[in-house]
Amino acid sequence: MMMQDQVLKILFIEDMPEDLELAKRKIQSSGITFESYLAETEDEFLRGLYDFKPDIVISDYILPEFDGMRALEITLTYDATVPFLILTGAANEEIITDAMKAGASDYILKERINRLPFAIKEAVKKRDTLLENKQTFDSLRFLSQIIEQSPYSVISTDMEGIITSWNNGAEKIFGYNAREALGQHISIVYLDSDLQMLNDEIISPLITNEQLHKKVRLKRKDGKTFIGSLSLWVVRDRTNRPAGMVGYTLDISKAIKVEEELKIKDQAIECSVDGIALVDRDGRIYYVNKAVLKMWGFDKKEEVLGMRPEDFFDAESNRREILEMAPQHGFKAEMLAKRKDGSTFPIWLSTSIIRNKENEPIAYMSSLIDITERKIAEKAMKKSEELYRLLAENTLDCIWMMDIDLVFTYVNPAIYPMLGFTPEEWIGSRLVDHFEEDDINRMMGYIQMGIEKPADFPGIRFQAEALNKNGEKVPVEIIGKVLTDDSGNPIALHGTTRDITKNVVAEKAMKDSEERLELAMTVAEHGFWDWDLENNEFYFSSISYKMLGYEDNEFPMSLEKWEEIMHPDDRKEIMPKIIGSVKKGDPFNFEIRMSSKSGDWIWIQAKGATFSDNKGNNRAIGTLVDITERKRTEEQMLLARIAAEDANRCKNELLANMNHELRTPLNSVIGYSDVLIDLNIGDLTTEQRKYIQIINNAGYKLLNLINNMLDLAQIESDGMGLRFTSFEPGKIIEKVVDGTRLLARKKRITVNVHVHDEIAEITADVDKFREILYNLVENALKFTPKNGTVSIEAGIRDDDIQVSVTDTGIGIAEKDRERIFDPFVQVDGSNTRRFGGAGLGLVLVKEYLKMQNGTIWVESETDKGSKFTFRIPISPLGRGNDI
Ligand code: ADP
Repeated sequence: MMMQDQVLKILFIEDMPEDLELAKRKIQSSGITFESYLAETEDEFLRGLYDFKPDIVISDYILPEFDGMRALEITLTYDATVPFLILTGAANEEIITDAMKAGASDYILKERINRLPFAIKEAVKKRDTLLENKQTFDSLRFLSQIIEQSPYSVISTDMEGIITSWNNGAEKIFGYNAREALGQHISIVYLDSDLQMLNDEIISPLITNEQLHKKVRLKRKDGKTFIGSLSLWVVRDRTNRPAGMVGYTLDISKAIKVEEELKIKDQAIECSVDGIALVDRDGRIYYVNKAVLKMWGFDKKEEVLGMRPEDFFDAESNRREILEMAPQHGFKAEMLAKRKDGSTFPIWLSTSIIRNKENEPIAYMSSLIDITERKIAEKAMKKSEELYRLLAENTLDCIWMMDIDLVFTYVNPAIYPMLGFTPEEWIGSRLVDHFEEDDINRMMGYIQMGIEKPADFPGIRFQAEALNKNGEKVPVEIIGKVLTDDSGNPIALHGTTRDITKNVVAEKAMKDSEERLELAMTVAEHGFWDWDLENNEFYFSSISYKMLGYEDNEFPMSLEKWEEIMHPDDRKEIMPKIIGSVKKGDPFNFEIRMSSKSGDWIWIQAKGATFSDNKGNNRAIGTLVDITERKRTEEQMLLARIAAEDANRCKNELLANMNHELRTPLNSVIGYSDVLIDLNIGDLTTEQRKYIQIINNAGYKLLNLINNMLDLAQIESDGMGLRFTSFEPGKIIEKVVDGTRLLARKKRITVNVHVHDEIAEITADVDKFREILYNLVENALKFTPKNGTVSIEAGIRDDDIQVSVTDTGIGIAEKDRERIFDPFVQVDGSNTRRFGGAGLGLVLVKEYLKMQNGTIWVESETDKGSKFTFRIPISPLGRGNDI
């Protein structure tokens, strides 16, 4: 602001008119054009400030009603840029310093009033600079605020690349805030691999060319990269030296992506095998893809663009369609296209209208498919249909078709071998002509279903009996289906018929065998059950039900039911075992009691086995047999046995009781006949003597028999105890041999005895030992003819004494070797007469041995001899209490 051009507005605060006058003159004479306003009071001063709007205030310092300090304060709040000069008479240094500190621009002593114009000029100049600076400052601040808030990244660096400013946009794009970014090198927004590029392609050329535009890859704080568009330039200071670089960055990744997508779409359209063409509102082609060129035989797009689409088709009707329909609403149709060379080909054309945002049509698009191939395929298809027809003609299955009045409209030649009709005879005949009433009724049911709701009727397979030309029945399997038109209405029936005579035979065989099994089960009165463990389904045959007195299927069988009707004891004891076997897959066989309908317990033998059937399900299958009768018999037998045992015991008791009664008379018989023989009473004739001898012998035999019987009875009634003593077996053997010497000598039989040295003493019942030995030796002598040999051998085997008696006698046939130990068994009746005896000896031997833990066995060869061997323990260990 130049003072010369303008009138300077001066507000004076002065109470001394002479001083004021002087000041004005001085100012005037200095050439300053001015206008003045005088205020003597605060009121006047304020009015002056607001109305007069002074460029400068010149104030006396000490005033009667007002004072300079106060005026300064007001001025500063009003507008701090307005210069405030103090014009004072009193040169009080203190006051002046205070005023200057408070913000006065200058001070002039009245005695040096000459300086006033200069002071005014200086102050105004200062104010102007200040004002000017303030404006720059404000606009700078304004600009920097714009930059600061800009959504675009603006970054400045010094010439070294150190970041000196970083706006909000930069923070947004790069993720660093200003505090993080300032002072860092600009390379933080570049990838490490791009640093060389930063130097070579950005900073260096920028310094040389002052500015640069470039698309580069940039990096965010989080490491993500993006494509940025950079605008960079170099800024210079007042001396025109490069002071820094400023950059403006835009993230254009998205834009690039959209561009790329568009490019891809363009390419896709361009490369599509379908032809695509765009036609504008004037009916001119403005785009075609390569496929269109290829289809129509053009080389360059230019040949086609601008042409009319109807010219690409042959038939006049096609042209009209394209002209009228395509621009209106689009359409789809098969058409005959005309190539550049005039040749034609079939195409499938589909057009659709393209609209702008306001939904106004702006163009239409045609997509074009060359359907030459399809046409060829269709032809091939027709051929293959023909082939199928041929196949149908030649198959063994009969293929047929009927109208919905059930009159045959087609049948293949297979009908002839099957039913004896020629196709000509068959076609035109009615369905009802070929089956009996039952079959027809059944078929009518299916057909009705099919015709009423063809959609729900996928077809049906059933068996029937067709009548051949001779009226004989032929078992057939028919597969039938309803044929519908496009809207789903039935128009015909078609299907196949197969001769299943063979299957029927096979099926019959199967059924027969099933029936046979069933019959066998019925005859055998075997119940049958089948338990599907997976589904807990139980099959229970009718015999199974009957077995328990129920009607067939009187209740559904299940595992729970099975348990329910089982005897509680068996349920507890046996059911877990059955389940266990089933689970393990083991076969089982149990006897259980089941409650019958009448409440009786039926004994059932339940056998079963587990296996997995062809569906992989675990199944248990088995039979049930009513064994109540057997159980009853068993029970009766048990009772009978107990009764027999009882009777036997009674007999034994009887015998024991009769001991005395039997022996007493016998003793008389023996005793007195002995006496008669011994006394040699003279009156007896030879004949009488012979008779007495017979009586005596018979008496002894009877006594022996009775003794044996009594012993046996005693043993059986457990009445016979053992008396253990220690003895030398050798001595007993000697005694027995002594006792039988008479018989041996009589038959001139050699008796050998061999007692092994190792035998000293044994502990056993000596009487029984003697009895055993005696019986065996006596038998050996008895059954050995004259001049034979009997050998007795005794030795130790383990803890037993083993004694064998071998003879060279008649021997025992194999079949008799076991029997001879049974009571009253004698091998040969004639022998008995020859050898005597009652058949009780070996029985007693065996019993005596048994009592002492001994055994006996026999080896023999008929007519060669026998060897009886027995063993008893050398001491009766473990029998302590019995001793
Ligand atoms: P018995 O009193 O008849 O001898 P045993 O019980 O002693 O009764 O013998 C039964 C039968 O065994 C005899 O009748 C005889 O047939 C046959 N037997 C026993 N010992 C011999 C033997 N050493 N040689 C041939 N047969 C014998």
